[in-house]
Amino acid sequence: MIHTCDALVVCCIDFRFQKFIREFTNERLVGKTFDLVGFAGATKDLATVLKQIAVSVRLHQIKEAYLIHHEDCGAYGKESTPQRHSQDLVKARSVVLAKYPDLSVYLYYLHLDGKFEKVV
Ligand SMILES: [Zn+2]
Repeated sequence: MIHTCDALVVCCIDFRFQKFIREFTNERLVGKTFDLVGFAGATKDLATVLKQIAVSVRLHQIKEAYLIHHEDCGAYGKESTPQRHSQDLVKARSVVLAKYPDLSVYLYYLHLDGKFEKVV
């Protein structure tokens, strides 16, 4: 039996942000289905994330990926600056798009107050 879904959401495990991520998916992905994965640092360990994306593409034929980093990320420690997160997100997108050119990849930097900032 084939079951497909619309999107994959990759975020950090950090409990402080889960309610914001739920609100985000409730609004941004209303009416859509999505796989959800949490890794410390979100895409920091890109090889691990790529394996997960490969599974979502193969099993669920996802069309969109939402990569969400956040402020004050313990996995980054002192390197958790907005610049570093943007840099890693942009890199992750280019690696993902090189493998899956048909995927739409959206990047976000999530602030401690729950504000989602789009990274371009
Ligand atoms: Zn984190």
